[in-house]
Amino acid sequence: MIRKSIAVAAVGLLMAGSAFAANEGGTGQPEIIVHRPNPKDAGAGYATAGGTGALSAITYHGGPVMGTPNAYIIWYGNWAQSNGSDTAAGKALVTSFLGGIGNSAYFKINTTYSASGGAPTGAVSLKSSTTDNYSHGTRLSDSAVLAVVSSAITSGRLPKDPAGVYFVLTSSDVSESSGFCNRYCGWHTHGSVSGTDIKYSFVGNANRCLSSCAAQTSSPNGNAGVDGMLSVVAHELEEAVSDPDLNAWYDSAGSENADKCAWTFGQPKSSLPGQVCSGSTCWNQSWGGHNWLVQRNLSASNNRCYLGLNGAQ
Ligand SMILES: [Zn+2]
Repeated sequence: MIRKSIAVAAVGLLMAGSAFAANEGGTGQPEIIVHRPNPKDAGAGYATAGGTGALSAITYHGGPVMGTPNAYIIWYGNWAQSNGSDTAAGKALVTSFLGGIGNSAYFKINTTYSASGGAPTGAVSLKSSTTDNYSHGTRLSDSAVLAVVSSAITSGRLPKDPAGVYFVLTSSDVSESSGFCNRYCGWHTHGSVSGTDIKYSFVGNANRCLSSCAAQTSSPNGNAGVDGMLSVVAHELEEAVSDPDLNAWYDSAGSENADKCAWTFGQPKSSLPGQVCSGSTCWNQSWGGHNWLVQRNLSASNNRCYLGLNGAQ
């Protein structure tokens, strides 16, 4: 069974052209996924495009999906640093991203994940946020991440919302002991808080390990750490929507929708939709007055990776 779906990547090293695993499986503990070196960094001029053919089938296992998720943010650690990444401007990027992703052609790919109780709408509602000033120090365990979410809810700083997806976003001085930066870049799961099934996700600031958890070191918004983490946020959000309780949509290897398209960013183009580059900086989406580089997502209709519903690959 799927446990926790991870967005990625074993630490960087590795030779260009090495084999890759597009899937991060979900059998028990997080698997190590080799994060292919970014072709852009190798001089090719763009982030990994990815293939356009059909992948192995993702299938439905009977559980619920989320219609319109309510997103909540817990800013863990210190997001008021002078490092150019864990900053007020960095927080504003996250807010703009989550505030605008709903009803984008990109997020509407999730509408293909129908379920017995209804399909995702493609909308996302960014609700509210709170802060957590290192309540569990600078090294979080998986259980501490749940404790951070639980505390935010039981203290009343965030509502207890079964339609919510709670993101614990850590500043770059915070590690996650089960493997942030070396086994994964983020994960999502669910757990019980005061008797309610709560969906939540950990995503760390990629500034801690750009070679592992970011596709590029110069980014469309001048903040490679946060721009990198936003692709992981999208990954976990679309998995939380299509497989919130880990019993809905995944393939025979346990991979969820975004797993199957991880670290692929679409074919190079001179304009959107497609992957557009200016110098060494690339992007493939635009909303909220910003450009973003976000991984593709899988259509359940034909098991291919797309940048938008029925759109560019
Ligand atoms: Zn995943």
